Amino acid sequence: MSILVIAEHDNQTLNFNTHKVISAAKQLQGEIHLLVMGHDCAAVGEQGSRLAGVTRVLLADDALYQHQLAELCAALVSRLATAYRHVLAPASTFGKDMLPRAAALLGVGMVADVVAIESEDIFVRPVYAGNALARVQSLDAVSLLTIRPAAFDAAAESGEPVPVEKLAAVPVENSSRFERDELSVSERPELTSARVVVSGGRGLGTKEQFALLEQLADKLNAAIGASRAAVDAGLADNAQQVGQTGKIVAPELYIAVGISGAIQHLAGIKDARVIVAINKDEDAPIFEVADYGLVADLFDVLPELIDKL
Ligand code: FAD
Repeated sequence: MSILVIAEHDNQTLNFNTHKVISAAKQLQGEIHLLVMGHDCAAVGEQGSRLAGVTRVLLADDALYQHQLAELCAALVSRLATAYRHVLAPASTFGKDMLPRAAALLGVGMVADVVAIESEDIFVRPVYAGNALARVQSLDAVSLLTIRPAAFDAAAESGEPVPVEKLAAVPVENSSRFERDELSVSERPELTSARVVVSGGRGLGTKEQFALLEQLADKLNAAIGASRAAVDAGLADNAQQVGQTGKIVAPELYIAVGISGAIQHLAGIKDARVIVAINKDEDAPIFEVADYGLVADLFDVLPELIDKL
């Protein structure tokens, strides 16, 4: 039996999440097929065909999939899924929107947010905001999994392309239509895949003061994140929220500035390799998880740190 991995992309470039999902798929037994659904997306198929571990690319290139609406993609995925033992998608907005619909169409369960694969049918996923790990057994003939990209290394590119097979679209009655994209444009690295993340909390006080982080991020080529309190207070954009109800990050270096370290925030930084905390309260819970802690007023030490860098 083989494994079907659903590619995430923007019709031009394969999203790095897909590389991570391929790594997860490699821990299962069987050939790995990569499904690319999009429009004018031959370049994505080509990129996918060079990923180490992929043995075949299935390319559904049709105007129907231009915006990869979940309802339309799920119809095709559920049609293909019965020929596979596992179907994997990233636990991103795309995967979380699409795969449960495919599971419903197939009448099977879905295991969300998988962080480890123990066997062909036992998967590990965080529960209670990451405070416990559940081992979940899938009893279905086909297991549908969303994979947390932060928990897996990215698959390398192999160089030698594998065959790309064209698939016809599956038209379905659809009750939704694409209206528009509203994307926040940033020159900075993408938060969920950045090697360095600088995050600010309510301690930064105002939006103007939050901008101090930009100077630090510039020095480190970092993405900028925020706590929910900072987002709620209007200091940062919603898309910057890190944590249980925000983004899950896994950088090599995470710098938390003026963040208390609430459990819901920590749920988003569990996979960060080195955590640095700057907080004026020495009892702040962030220091319990920080590798390096600086008990200081951020307005004193940030300018100095930026200067030294
Ligand atoms: P605070 O807790 O107010 O901490 C501010 C910190 O700044 C304090 O530790 C203070 O000592 C320090 N500080 C203040 N001034 C200075 C200074 N001058 N110099 C240095 N330090 C200073 N939160 C998230 O972040 N992400 C989530 O995804 C998330 N999801 C949630 C989901 C649910 C269901 C719930 C109930 C809550 C969620 N929260 C989330 C909210 C979370 O519980 C906390 O309220 C939030 O993380 C607190 O943000 P904060 O640390 O910025 O603010």
